[in-house]
Amino acid sequence: MNILIKGLNDKRYERNLQLIADLFFEDSTLKVSEEADLNSDALEIDITVQINQDRIIAFAEAKEHSLTAERKTNYIVKETEKESFKQNKNVVSHVFLSILQQLTGMTQKWGVLTGIRPTKLMHKQRMKDAPLSETRRHLKEQYLITDEKIDLMEQIVERQLKMIPDLYELQDGVSIYIGIPFCPTKCAYCTFPAFAIQGKLGKVSSFLAGLHYEIQETGRWLKENGVKITTIYFGGGTPTAISAEEMDALYEEMYRSFPDVKNVREVTVEAGRPDTIFPDKLEVLKKWNIDRISINPQSYTDETLKAIGRHHTVQETIDKFHLSRKHGMNNINMDLIIGLPNEGVAELEHSLNETEKLMPESVTVHTLSFKRASEMTLNREKYKVADRTEVENMMDLAQKWNKDNGYVPYYLYRQKNILGNLENVGYAKPGEESLYNIIIMEEVQTIVGLGCGAASKFIDPATGKITHFANPKDPKSYNEGFIDYTQKKLAHLEAIFNRKAEAGV
Ligand code: SF4
Repeated sequence: MNILIKGLNDKRYERNLQLIADLFFEDSTLKVSEEADLNSDALEIDITVQINQDRIIAFAEAKEHSLTAERKTNYIVKETEKESFKQNKNVVSHVFLSILQQLTGMTQKWGVLTGIRPTKLMHKQRMKDAPLSETRRHLKEQYLITDEKIDLMEQIVERQLKMIPDLYELQDGVSIYIGIPFCPTKCAYCTFPAFAIQGKLGKVSSFLAGLHYEIQETGRWLKENGVKITTIYFGGGTPTAISAEEMDALYEEMYRSFPDVKNVREVTVEAGRPDTIFPDKLEVLKKWNIDRISINPQSYTDETLKAIGRHHTVQETIDKFHLSRKHGMNNINMDLIIGLPNEGVAELEHSLNETEKLMPESVTVHTLSFKRASEMTLNREKYKVADRTEVENMMDLAQKWNKDNGYVPYYLYRQKNILGNLENVGYAKPGEESLYNIIIMEEVQTIVGLGCGAASKFIDPATGKITHFANPKDPKSYNEGFIDYTQKKLAHLEAIFNRKAEAGV
């Protein structure tokens, strides 16, 4: 779908309108321009914006389809032009969304909101002590979010504050993410740093040497500067793809180097792939008091697992779950994905029935997203996926199942190119929620990322300003540059916590 927006005369609208167009069409190209589009089948929409003293009015018209939309609201002159212009963008988004909704018959439950962290908006209002009714009105009017989604946000924010009462006061500490970039095989929908581990043993040991260095140096800095760790999360890849001895040495390093690990609120190891879980590794997890693991079925249909390149069976998932329980793992998360190839409501129902027999402490429900570089996106035509209505029905079913089985939603995030423009929701038995997931989603404290593909997010405790830093995704570049990456991250920590010269940042 090509879309031509006329009348706006300002390129700054383009990105936002493109994001809204993406909610409706899988492949759309949008241009804000006065020139007639060369492509004659483009959808043309005229949009005008007028400011009359304290009112701003946007009007949109798609002449060929006899559709119009209007949005009038109050206008406040802000300190900077950029700030004021946000109001223009908002009214333009409203009328553009309205035209596309009329044209397609689709309703966007998240309205004009295209960001990936909706609950952050609600926290922002809470921090300002805004009454809940005012927050709800704001979300509805400003973003056109439906009551259903606002209710979900409200429930999640309540849970998060129950689990972490000091959520708004965590800025003086950090959480740590450790990325292990190896997996038994690569799943078709995956864009994480996940290299098939077979035959890569040399690469694994040099990667681990770099990771030990990062843990030592970061730990030293945190100890010297009295900065506490709130949570630690091992992800990847699959952190249990390495051997039991390598895991043992890594956790020993964690205890030796990081400050006060005994009082870290939560340590998670995403075991993820059942085909990496064995008794010796479970014993290592137990030995080092790992609080929480993930064993991810994604689906309980063997054909689906084959189609997505996961070389394990449903039975193996079930067996490894029981094995983990036997070895004392008492906080297990299980991920499910809605909309995997050839799956509909019936397959999801089957997966939920199977989950019911296991009753893990938490269930994370993802909706399939077509990430740009994944094998699934590159060969899109090979994979038949459910349509929007079916995906919505699946989401409703998952929500109902979780409620009926005593799970509560505690975090959510949206992704680009996600089926049905839905969301990923983490559910847990009350009290078993992952603290790390809440902290990373709500961006309330610095996350230091160590290892391959690990993304660090430095949040200035004084200003809230966020600076991103990413370690390389492939083990080779990581192995060549880990000293440099570590030092750069320490310089970032210096800059935000000690306000020293930002040399080298
Ligand atoms: S197990 Fe996870 S990280 Fe590994 S390939 Fe599959 S989706 Fe990617």
